[in-house]
Amino acid sequence: MSRPGSPGTQPGPPPESTGPVVTPTTPAQALAELSAGNRRFVTGIPRHPNQDAGHRAAVADGQHPFAVIVGCSDSRLAAEIIFDRGLGDLFVVRTAGHTTGPEVLGSVEYAVTVLGTPLVVVLGHDSCGAVQAAKTAAETDTSPAGHLRAVVDAMMPSLRRAEAAGVTDVDGIVDIHIAHTVEAMLGSSAVLAAEVAAGRCAVVGMSYRLAAGEVRTVTAAGDLPDPAADPTPAAA
Ligand SMILES: [Zn+2]
Repeated sequence: MSRPGSPGTQPGPPPESTGPVVTPTTPAQALAELSAGNRRFVTGIPRHPNQDAGHRAAVADGQHPFAVIVGCSDSRLAAEIIFDRGLGDLFVVRTAGHTTGPEVLGSVEYAVTVLGTPLVVVLGHDSCGAVQAAKTAAETDTSPAGHLRAVVDAMMPSLRRAEAAGVTDVDGIVDIHIAHTVEAMLGSSAVLAAEVAAGRCAVVGMSYRLAAGEVRTVTAAGDLPDPAADPTPAAA
């Protein structure tokens, strides 16, 4: 509770966080908004938009997230923090090594088709422990115990692709795994592929650097005509 009789003295959020925030409706707008938020985070001047009580009440009746984040579960990869967003902005699905089984794909399809979310981001990162675990399993021809085996097994196609390309460092394998995850999602989800083909949605693979805090585009599929949003051109 605030001090009695002094409601006006309660420290409040900065003015930027209480103003209206435009919700992107196209893949390019969504990508630009994520890039802008990451720049704010990297440079240490986050706005923390959509995190106040007023916005919490405003989104209680319905959500319109502008991006799906399929990210690694790594505790240092919190989507709303690294993209400087708030409640109702991001539809986040996270698994170790951003592995994508039926539940993940179903969640993505829900966001894209029911909620109308125009962008899907596959988010990996450097020094990924899940990639390292899969690399070790592949090199030693062993499998971890319990359900962790399913995570490692799901990453084996990426490990085989890396081996064929002569890529042996973890961060190089991470990039290959991100690109493979994007391809696999589009190949496994006819619903998602149709939304991308129709131009209503795009899928972007990004890699996050733990120390620097910045994201880099690894691959992209879909209608992303705004090259200023990111230096990496979108694939057809
Ligand atoms: Zn990871």
